[in-house]
Amino acid sequence: QVRVRFAPSPTGPLHIGGVRTALYNYLFARKMGGKMLLRIEDTDQNRFVPGAEEYILESLRWVGIEIDEGQGIGGPHAPYRQSERKDIYRVEAERLVAEGKAYYAFDTADELDAMRKRLEAANAPAAQYNAITRMQMKNSLTLKPEDVKARIDAGDPYVIRLKTPRKEEVRLNDLIRGWVNVHSSAIDDKVLLKSDGLPTYHLANVVDDHIMGITHVIRGEEWLPSAPLHVLLYRYLGWESTMPQFAHLPLLLKPEGNGKLSKRDADLGGFPIFPLQWTDPFSGTVARGFREDGYLPEAVVNFLALLGWNPGTEQELFTMAELISSFDIAQIHKAGARFDIEKAKWFNHQYIRQRPNEELAPAVQQQAEANGLTCSADKAIKIAGLLKERVNFAHELFTEARTIFYTPEVYDETIAAAKWNADAVRAVTVFRDALQSFDGEFMADTIKHTLSDTLQQAGIKQGKIMQAMRLALTGSGTGPDLMLTMEIIGKDEVIKRLEQALE
Ligand code: GLU
Repeated sequence: QVRVRFAPSPTGPLHIGGVRTALYNYLFARKMGGKMLLRIEDTDQNRFVPGAEEYILESLRWVGIEIDEGQGIGGPHAPYRQSERKDIYRVEAERLVAEGKAYYAFDTADELDAMRKRLEAANAPAAQYNAITRMQMKNSLTLKPEDVKARIDAGDPYVIRLKTPRKEEVRLNDLIRGWVNVHSSAIDDKVLLKSDGLPTYHLANVVDDHIMGITHVIRGEEWLPSAPLHVLLYRYLGWESTMPQFAHLPLLLKPEGNGKLSKRDADLGGFPIFPLQWTDPFSGTVARGFREDGYLPEAVVNFLALLGWNPGTEQELFTMAELISSFDIAQIHKAGARFDIEKAKWFNHQYIRQRPNEELAPAVQQQAEANGLTCSADKAIKIAGLLKERVNFAHELFTEARTIFYTPEVYDETIAAAKWNADAVRAVTVFRDALQSFDGEFMADTIKHTLSDTLQQAGIKQGKIMQAMRLALTGSGTGPDLMLTMEIIGKDEVIKRLEQALE
């Protein structure tokens, strides 16, 4: 059975790229009838940010990613927070030491620094603490066993490092990138267990993926350089035969395609890169969220799903169920995906226009209220129906409806110059008169009949004066269906506006 996991670190708000990673995991799990796990990787205590874990859970809930097992849900491998699993990692690290695949290292920060400087001066390759240099350092490979024991007994700080082989080819077959080969000389003797007793990401990640029975590791491309090290760890831990398959997702690129999307791009471009609004607990800085900016979760899901994947058809709108049934790791792109916020808005527009008017109406009412107006539910529902085709966000409905809420104060001069002629004045006059004696239900179709009958009797061609009529009613030459607009404005206000235009 397929088992995948989303394994975020609570070091701040979940980036929108993280939501995409979670989404791809979820789609794959559902497609394969497998399970989706949530594990919190919080072993870096210096980078722990209060509130980040709750934020992750809420973000996943908001976009509709359901977790089957893990933090916040529970399951057979609980706890799912790595800081609560410390002992598990230590046992494995010590086992590697006992088997000669890892070792204790006692080097101080100053000693490590001195080595770094020496190597830099000699233009040494990137991997610094390795098969060659380890022999000059203070560790259980160079110290006498009794000295090692004495130091540990005395409580000297130490780390456990992986004894990376000197000359070995490490290969992995990534489901997206294909074969990745790395020579072990490029891999450091990575720290597995830190001096605070906590594991590093690498050890904890591999140990948990093994214990939790993960079959596929689907994560961002930024982890591809770590993957060979992880393969080595699986081998050393004796778990190579059940090693998960890897799929490293393409990067999210800046809107212009030049480089990786970063937080700064959001600041400059005025768009959110976090799913939900986030208030930094230390600085109080507020970062925008898709949710608070007015995006619908189904639009965000659709947008993210297509950032790096598509099913090879023309279809662009997908429900979650459709995404699940068409998702295929083989169709994930290798190339980075450009983060195009205009596309996100387009998706939101598509979902806003599909939303029932009743669900959009409260946004109209709220905005009206915020502007010191009252708006009945009935009126708000009609406004939503009239204008939802014309907006990207529910909060834009009110702005779009300003000609309904406000009597015009100015009239478009170009339209006035072109269309406000004797016929127009006559049409507005006879229509006003007709409305004054109108006593039916003031509805778009009755208004329509009244208008056309009146104009016919007056011998005026409707097509010639409609823009002027609209101008008189709204101050503008363009807008949505005028009969519906009048219905929503209401009879008395319509008459008032026609009169004002005639003054
Ligand atoms: N904790 C890592 C992160 O925050 C997880 C990487 C992985 O999925 O292996 O991205």
